[in-house]
Amino acid sequence: TSMSSLSVPPPQCLLQPFTVPHRYLFGPGPSNVPPRISTAGAQPMLGHLHAETIEIMDHIKSGIQYAFQTQNRMTLAVSGPGHAAMECAIFNTVESGESVLIAVHGIWGERAAEMAERIGAKVNTIVTSAGSYYTNDEIEQALAKYKPVLFFLTHGESSTGVLHPIDGIGELCHKYDCLFLVDSVAALGGAPIYMDKQGIDILYTGSQKVLNAPPGTAPISFSERACHKIFNRKTKPVSYFLDLSWLANYWGCDGKPVRSYHHTGPITGLYSLRESLAILAETGLENSWKQHKDVAEYFHMGLEKMGLKLFVQDKKARLPTVTTIVAPPGYEWREITGYIMKNHNIEISGGLGPSLGMVLRVGLMGCNSTKAHVDMILQALADALKHCHKSKV
Ligand code: PMP
Repeated sequence: TSMSSLSVPPPQCLLQPFTVPHRYLFGPGPSNVPPRISTAGAQPMLGHLHAETIEIMDHIKSGIQYAFQTQNRMTLAVSGPGHAAMECAIFNTVESGESVLIAVHGIWGERAAEMAERIGAKVNTIVTSAGSYYTNDEIEQALAKYKPVLFFLTHGESSTGVLHPIDGIGELCHKYDCLFLVDSVAALGGAPIYMDKQGIDILYTGSQKVLNAPPGTAPISFSERACHKIFNRKTKPVSYFLDLSWLANYWGCDGKPVRSYHHTGPITGLYSLRESLAILAETGLENSWKQHKDVAEYFHMGLEKMGLKLFVQDKKARLPTVTTIVAPPGYEWREITGYIMKNHNIEISGGLGPSLGMVLRVGLMGCNSTKAHVDMILQALADALKHCHKSKV
């Protein structure tokens, strides 16, 4: 054997065959990817600026405009997870020293506040307890008090299971000359939202929830008002990668005849996103909203029949995509999720941020939102409650 110049040998673990088990992904995300979408993602690689790729990006743009119900020209998919879209929205819109208002009714408001803080914004928050939401009066009072340039609100708070009402808030923001930013990562496609009609200035979602595509692309759209603020800023956004001037050109949203290289997009991820938007277009948004609502109601009834309690009291504020169940008293929640994973091959999750230790979270999104899956979950939960250790309190 010849002497090798390498001090690090090929790792044994990589020389083993590679397989991944099938698992039911009924947590708050990612959701299962149906074969049609994974097959789309397995098609041949193209260059990121080839004519066919550009056409796919244009189709994605139309699909996002449909899913968001917007005519915005500035509509694209950020290369990255939901967090990348959050930072894209905040970093482009807000300059250091400007006032922002963040509604904190779960972890997503907390994170948005930290992102804004990191770029030197004056961050003001309104905070409410986990499981509840704001009235338009409370929001108006805060807008009047803090005079923010941007108001952040989470539509589907996946950490608490709350679907926040949107009607009327866009008008309030505009009355106070403020941009309205909505995070609909966990709700879009599964609950009604109308970007233009509801006066939303910036809206984003993720690929891996209701859309059932792999994580890594994040649809986002900006209104004319948002673009006006963004393209008249005094300082450059702190992120080169998320700079909307670059992204607008890459996605053909800036009216320039040539798209130039900014970064290499997740090309096969875009194929999958294209196909997931095609499925949504074929299904119809309204049908998708109804499916998620019906399945969630069926699930909630089943839970209550088992004696379990829903964390969100107000029925109309229950997020149809992610259900929060009050952690069954006397049990260790981790034992329940572990038992269900081990014995039923189903992922459900515990709480997050303000709901940690208080809830179990079950996500039924896109193709996962079926009554047959609800029956599976109810059975798994009943089995777990029978077999997991219960303290005698
Ligand atoms: N916002 C909400 C409401 C979410 O549920 C999530 C994902 N759980 C995110 C943002 C962040 O998305 P990602 O994990 O893709 O960065």
